[in-house]
Amino acid sequence: MNQFSQLSLQQDINRAIHEMGFEEPSPIQQACIPVILKGKDVIGHAQTGTGKTAAFGIPIVQLVTKQPKVQSIVLTPTRELAIQVSEELRKIAKYKRLKVLPIYGGQSIGHQIRALKQGVHIVIGTPGRVLDHIRKNTLQLQDVKMFVLDEADEMLDMGFIDDIEEIIRKTPNDRQTLLFSATMPYEIKKLANRYLKNPEVISMNRGEVTAPSIEQVYYKVLENNKLDSLCRIIDHHEVDLGIIFCRTKKTVDELTESLLARGYIVDGLHGDLSQNQRDKVMKRFREKTIEFLIATDVAARGIDVGNVSHVINYDIPQDPESYVHRIGRTGRAGKTGIAITLVTPREIKLLKTIEQEVKNKITPQELPTIEELKLI
Ligand code: ADP
Ligand code: MG
Repeated sequence: MNQFSQLSLQQDINRAIHEMGFEEPSPIQQACIPVILKGKDVIGHAQTGTGKTAAFGIPIVQLVTKQPKVQSIVLTPTRELAIQVSEELRKIAKYKRLKVLPIYGGQSIGHQIRALKQGVHIVIGTPGRVLDHIRKNTLQLQDVKMFVLDEADEMLDMGFIDDIEEIIRKTPNDRQTLLFSATMPYEIKKLANRYLKNPEVISMNRGEVTAPSIEQVYYKVLENNKLDSLCRIIDHHEVDLGIIFCRTKKTVDELTESLLARGYIVDGLHGDLSQNQRDKVMKRFREKTIEFLIATDVAARGIDVGNVSHVINYDIPQDPESYVHRIGRTGRAGKTGIAITLVTPREIKLLKTIEQEVKNKITPQELPTIEELKLI
């Protein structure tokens, strides 16, 4: 029963997802695809890494016609995510030959305007740049029949609410609206009440917020000894590919320098880099040219890179939701991962709050001694 062939998808789509290596729909896809295909509004709530993109991407590609008008728009919180979602939709739409275009800040707007003029079916964009195009009248949304908010919780966290509402109001009232989120804070429910019509709520979170395939541990460290502790920890774990989260851009830069100086192969990612620099860093990370990506929360939102074996919170996240998002960068698509949090004595209370909220045990570990490290 658990087959893509049971979802009555167009042949072009079946062929494409087969080529993508998707053998069977994930639970969120299984639940969402038929409902979205019926034209209903949907609130999709599932852990990170469970395949939410294709849960809306497959029905969009099915329902959008070949008429060269923007018939669907997906809003994402970051540029990286816009590119990533666009790549996934482009693959799904490969044989149906729909044009999928990401539009985001930091890339030449002229280039995007030319691409839009060529005729685009599906736009994936960040709110600021989408609004720029709407105001310039280089993007018209009057033919949009499907509107998607991806990673809605992150978009709200980033303060995009006014932009989002302005964009939604430019789309026809009889559109279908889909909202996907890893967490469901009150503000999301409020937004959904305002813009979704009689939505079906599809929730895959059964009390557990984080994916079970993630092993979660913490190390007690001292503030003035954090760098050394980090190095011991990463020497001790067999890291294939890791992301190290820091609270500020400054820490990202400093830690990148310090780790490079100690011979680790790392690169930093944060919002002050140019788009070109960010793309280069992401490319090196995807290709595993670097071992560790060092990033702020914002820079790493929604990034889906397969095979991230370790997520390390060099600075403990400030709230449980941020914790869930960070560690969701590993353990994706059924793979296992390890999430490591460094905790200073005064942050223990915060760790306990996070542990309670995410309903998952975060296990304490002893720092490996120098002697133990010599054995590796
Ligand atoms: P989410 O948005 O829920 O965090 P994504 O949509 O980014 O997760 O999907 C995570 C990864 O799983 C992606 O690399 C995606 O290509 C892959 N994936 C999605 N659906 C399937 C499937 N049915 N079979 C195999 N892999 C899948
Ligand atoms: Mg997603």
